[in-house]
Formats: sequence, C-alpha cells, structure tokens
Amino acid sequence: MKKIISFTTTFVMILLLTFSLFSCGEEPVTEKKSAFINGEYIGSYDIVYSEENDYELRAAEYIQGKIKERTGVKVDLVKASEDGGEGAAILVGETARELSSALDAECAGLQFAISADGTEIALEGELFVIAAAAYYFVETYVTGKSFSAIVPEETAVLEPIVKEAKNHILLIGDGMGYVHTRMFDYLADPSEISDGEDTFYGYMLPSQGSCRTSSLSGVTDSAAAGTALATGYKTYNEYIGLNKDGESVKSLTELAIELGKGAAVISTETQTGATPATFSSHVVDRGSSSEIRKQQTALITEHGVIIDGNYSQYTSWIMKSIEGDVMEAIGKMESDPDGFFMMYEEAHIDKACHSNDLERTYLSVIRFNQIIARVMEYAFYNPETFVLITADHETGDLEPNASGELVYGSEEHTDKDVPVFAYGKGSELFNGKTVENVQIAMTFASFWGVSDFGDQSEFAPLGK
Ligand SMILES: [Zn+2]
Repeated sequence: MKKIISFTTTFVMILLLTFSLFSCGEEPVTEKKSAFINGEYIGSYDIVYSEENDYELRAAEYIQGKIKERTGVKVDLVKASEDGGEGAAILVGETARELSSALDAECAGLQFAISADGTEIALEGELFVIAAAAYYFVETYVTGKSFSAIVPEETAVLEPIVKEAKNHILLIGDGMGYVHTRMFDYLADPSEISDGEDTFYGYMLPSQGSCRTSSLSGVTDSAAAGTALATGYKTYNEYIGLNKDGESVKSLTELAIELGKGAAVISTETQTGATPATFSSHVVDRGSSSEIRKQQTALITEHGVIIDGNYSQYTSWIMKSIEGDVMEAIGKMESDPDGFFMMYEEAHIDKACHSNDLERTYLSVIRFNQIIARVMEYAFYNPETFVLITADHETGDLEPNASGELVYGSEEHTDKDVPVFAYGKGSELFNGKTVENVQIAMTFASFWGVSDFGDQSEFAPLGK
C-alpha cells in the first residue's frame, strides 16, 4: 500500500511538472509591458527634470538611454517647467511636484536621495551628484528586459556605487595650496565671480589627505614636482622625467602604455609646460621645448597618446572648450578594455599667484573646479574610475589677513603641504594621511599591479 501511494505521488508530480513545463512553453511571449516600476508599466512614465543645471539634463538623458537600452521602451523627457504635474514620473532634481519638495533629504558629501510616492519617483543630488543617483536608479531598478521593481516610499540616503578601478585620473592644480581651495569662504558673495559654485568640490570627496612637495633642491619647481608625481622619483629642480643622476625614469603615462591602457596628458598651458612635460618626456632642462615636443610627438604617433594643451589665454573662466576636450579625450580612451590613465593640469593657478593676481587666481581655481565636477560626473556613470586631485606645490604663500582678506606673502613657490582629495576603489588609502608626492605615483602603479614603481628606497606605495 505504501509503495503504491509513493508511486502515485511521483506519477502525479511528474505529470504536474510536465504540464507546467508544457504550459510555460505555450504561453504567448509578450515583448511589451514586461517592465514595471511600483506596479506601473515603465512606458507610462515620463522623466521630468529640473533645469537648474546641465547635470540634471544629462542624468535624465542617461536614465532615458538606459531604459531604452535595457527594455526597448522609449520614455519621454519633460522639462520641469513644462510638466503637467500629473501621471507617472521619474523626477530628476527639484521639480514643482510635491514629492520633490517633500524629499529635501540631508545629504552630506557625495550622498544622494531617492524616494517614491506611488508612481512618482524622486531623485535628488547636489550638482554632479545627481549622476550618482541616476546610475544607482538604473542599476538597482531597471535591471533588464523584464522586471517588476519597487522603489520604497521611505527616503533612502545613499552613497555612489564604486567598483574595482581600471581608469585612473590625476587632476593637478599647479600652485594650489589649502587656502586656494578655501577661496570661496573668503568671498562675501562667491556667485559674483563664479558660475554658481560656492565650494571646492574636492571637499565633497570621501578621502582627504595632504601631500609634501619638496624636491632634492629644497622648495620645488613644477619640473621636479611633476617628475615626482609622474615617476615616483624625487629629483632636482629643472629636471623633467629624470632621477637625481640624470637618468630617464618611467612615467605613469609610459607605464599605462606598457600595460595596454589608453593615456592622455592635458594641460591648460602649452603642452611643453613643465607639468605636462614630466608626464610625457625626459629632458635635463625644462626649457628645452623643442626636444620635449619631439618626444611628445613620438608618444602620440607611436602609442596614440592624447596630449593637449595651449589654453594659455583666458577668454572666460567657464572654459567649455577645455571641458569639451577633456570629455573628448576620455571618450577616445574609455572603450579600451584595460582602462586608461589621464593627467589633467590647471596651470594658471600658479601663474596667477606668481603675479599676485587674486582675481585670476580665483578664476583658475573655479575653472579647475568645473573640470573636477565633470570628471566626477564621469566617475559616477563609470564607477570603475578612480580620481585623485592634488597640487604639485603651493605658490604665493596665500593666507587670510587679520580682516579676513586673502593676501599673498610671496611671489614664489613655498614648501607648504598641499591637499589631496581622492575618490574610487583604493581612495581610502589616502584618507587622513600625509604622503610624499612620490607615493602618489607609486600608489597609482600599485593599483595597476606594478609594485616596484619609482624610487622605493625611502618611500613605499600606500597599502604596502
Ligand atoms: Zn610656478
């Protein structure tokens, strides 16, 4: 009896299984209406975006693009000013809808917020941080061709998604000391001079530290400081890409090429200027511009390295052309499966401080800040990206006086430590630390699996 029951049960189970498999196969395949958020078909949603800044537009376009790519459904983009205020919507930035104003979450640093109310979903993030919100939203909820996602009603305050880095970006503010990065604090109305910025974006990054800058000559010039950041060797002033014995030493650019990565060296001054030169040539005298150019041309033609520059003239502090060139350079390299290395230098902070020109100092810090914002936006959409912001040295001994105005104490470089701001996988190594400039180069190399880069007789890469 027992045996029969068992047989019958098995038989019924097989029958049920066969039936269910068969019936699955018989079900009509529905191409449409397979993607739902909060119970509503994704095609019913509009993406309503705030028009406060371009980051919000690009975030809206990013979400639209990813929804199309993953589900095949085209969702409409609607300006907040043209929004009817009704219907299912993904709200990007502050809009007139109630949920937007209700959200207003406390976000520190790079945090962003997401909340939902039925078929309204709001994303909020300051300036470029909205990119991190957009990326998070599509990665978490728009997961494939078919899904039924629930965005919780309770406001979530979140951090950007970070992945193992294959792209490494080094941003150098030539001559930029701590006080330069605090300039906004000393202005009664920063918006008078800026494009809306009132903070140096480095301070939003999770990892912050300091860097010592001296060269073997004492107070460094940009040649020795650039060489330290590019090659991991302390050297004498005037030397470009050479160690103390005058021997050529490998730069991060050359190492990146060796490893099959894309590489770019970009500066707001002529490409033969000391900083870009240290990342792309080896000469005894920083003034040997024709030899520097010759070596750079060889790098460009043999290895496809991008070397830009020549923004020596100010037309405006909002330099769309530089921004465009930086994004174009990244665009050319980003398809490389091995990732890329890019050094970008704002050269004019140093120049303005040599001539004790406060207004130009502000303008060049602001221009640098705007590039930082674009690079961070890129890093949010491409989380395999590591970003480090620092300076080669301080120039001008800039300090506030007794009445809180900024004044120069010098027309020369100083030996003051400079700030380090870092973002991405591994950036925590820099947090709260004072490093030597050479350790930055060594640490970049060790991220790429090269542990013996630079002169490690005195200093080692971080994390080692
Ligand atoms: Zn200088």
